[in-house]
Amino acid sequence: MLAAKVRIEVVPKADTSSLLFELNSTLKVKSAVDAAGKNLNYRQEGLNLQVEFLSPLPAAKPATITVEYEGTLATADGSPVENLKLAYVGPEGSYLLYPARWFPVNGYGVNRFAAAMRITVPSDDTVIASGTVSAPEREPGKVTYTYRFEQRSFPGTVLAGNYIVQPSTAVGADITLYLKKGHEQYAGSYGETAAKILEFYSLKFGSLPNRHLALAELDDSTVGGYSAPGLVALASRGFSAPVNYRLLAHELSHQWWRCMVSPATPDDAFLDEGLATYSAAMDVQEMAGENAFEDVMHEVEVGALTHEDMAPISQAGRLHEFTPEYESIVFQKGAMVFHMLRWVIGDDAFFQTLQAMAKEHAWGSISTDEFQKLAEKSGKQELTYFFAQWVSSTACPNSSARGRCIGPRTATRWWARFNRIWTSSACRWKFAFSRNRRGPSQSVWRWWVPRRTSPSTPGRAPCAWL
Ligand SMILES: [Zn+2]
Repeated sequence: MLAAKVRIEVVPKADTSSLLFELNSTLKVKSAVDAAGKNLNYRQEGLNLQVEFLSPLPAAKPATITVEYEGTLATADGSPVENLKLAYVGPEGSYLLYPARWFPVNGYGVNRFAAAMRITVPSDDTVIASGTVSAPEREPGKVTYTYRFEQRSFPGTVLAGNYIVQPSTAVGADITLYLKKGHEQYAGSYGETAAKILEFYSLKFGSLPNRHLALAELDDSTVGGYSAPGLVALASRGFSAPVNYRLLAHELSHQWWRCMVSPATPDDAFLDEGLATYSAAMDVQEMAGENAFEDVMHEVEVGALTHEDMAPISQAGRLHEFTPEYESIVFQKGAMVFHMLRWVIGDDAFFQTLQAMAKEHAWGSISTDEFQKLAEKSGKQELTYFFAQWVSSTACPNSSARGRCIGPRTATRWWARFNRIWTSSACRWKFAFSRNRRGPSQSVWRWWVPRRTSPSTPGRAPCAWL
């Protein structure tokens, strides 16, 4: 059972007479009042919560509303994602992930916010959340933790339960591990690995302003991992020997790509999950070498092909998070775009672009256009053709495109270049087409999918003309 009282401070961008939030539909609103304590009308329908103001709010003027609500978060019922439990409150440990909308959320994944949270739990429980924590206030049978996160980010994730708390012994790291009984032996290896990954990312992306990290175990009944500012949660199944460092690297990279810089709109989502997927691949390249990196990128490109005709990356807002389509287009194809961009502009310019993104947009958002400009500046070249082809279009070949395929001699040249961008298995999968022969800026790059083989079962035969 969750009972909550939330004071929300908003600054409207335009004059408004009502505010629309999303709230987990298992949670029932009991009251909504304004700053003067006057009752406000509200309507709760499914995931939507609309609160009406007594008089219209002028743009740019801060306003406050307080919402009280409660409900039982026991199953996936009421979750914003069908059949996926994102919040749970129970005696064996609780988790409230931001995607569960366990508090009224406006502009999910886009509108950044600061938060102060007072969380009361049974006295044996430890509470983990983003930001700085005050000394726990103990009363008979219960304890209250207060967490404050001052910067604008996405600090709305809370874990609570009977944890074994261990500071990491890794040199130079400021990491605390919160593991469940029976998993305490993973503290050493996961702390060490997390420290190494953070060091690698800091070198490549720029250092994190908030050094402290909580690495906590999450129940297996939900997602495999989730990252909030200063807090990385991995499901119990993510703890193993050897360390599942790809999962850890993915979640850690969100400290930069989401927590520090987030997409300006849901359509820019590949700058979050796509870049996190590619960051994890780069960490594999660093820790395990080129062959391991190629294996990861091969898996990513197969994943990218499974649903890529559903929508271009630039229309990710049409897709639903936690679905196979979202995974394919935003995570996997998104990661391929970064991989190709790295090849097109070169390593130095690529990492300069990521550093500029983290520095110039710190604690704020970035649009795809702004990202393109950063890449063009670092890469010293115009990249509209690249973003138009890979981000704004579905890179799905059709028969007419195949009919205009360029001749074998040029094909060899293009294929050689193309093959370096993708992996050694590229010829089985796709091919670069060119509208004319005047060079890269006029070329159109397309994926070529063999007709009689599905993306998950690569075939060799269709490569005959390479
Ligand atoms: Zn992610």
